[in-house]
Amino acid sequence: MDFSSYKTAENKVPVEVSAKHIHISKKDADILFGPDHVFSARRQLKFNDVFVTSDSVEIRVKGGSLPNVHIVMPFRDQTKVELAATDIFKLTKETIFDSEGKQRQFDVEIVGPKGRLKLDSMPLVACRHLHASPSDAESLGLKDGDVISVVTDGPRSVVLNNVLVRVQEGAVLTCHLDTDEGHAAGISREGFGFVIKD
Ligand SMILES: [Zn+2]
Repeated sequence: MDFSSYKTAENKVPVEVSAKHIHISKKDADILFGPDHVFSARRQLKFNDVFVTSDSVEIRVKGGSLPNVHIVMPFRDQTKVELAATDIFKLTKETIFDSEGKQRQFDVEIVGPKGRLKLDSMPLVACRHLHASPSDAESLGLKDGDVISVVTDGPRSVVLNNVLVRVQEGAVLTCHLDTDEGHAAGISREGFGFVIKD
């Protein structure tokens, strides 16, 4: 199919690939790293105050282990592990959806240098999403909660369906993909795509 009609400057959005990572609450950070730990930035992300720390934890699910899962700051209200489907398969030998098409949830153990904690029944793969500020959303003709498609460019161009639009004051226009989606599209860290909406 020819998607060239969508590939216009007005529809163009940056795409960023996030490797496996974890968002943590202050309370859980205290357990994993001790209450006095200071998290230092290893890589700044496009969002002003968001950075990947040089600190990491080990994620254990169903007897499998993923070491070196980096923490993304600032603190969140709730701890959330974000992996790609391939990471889940490595850990559990299971796919992300069950036979009824529901996303599987897993009991997770998180191991830090100072302590460990358990989280029950967690979905481990984030929904594809596009971050946009209110003015970006307006110029793209989108609103918070819309579900769109994004077509990527290049020799491994793919169409990503079910991309949730998240409009937030101060957001930097970016479509966030996980590493499986990035590899499928031939994008290793940053690329771009084009919004397709009804
Ligand atoms: Zn995001």
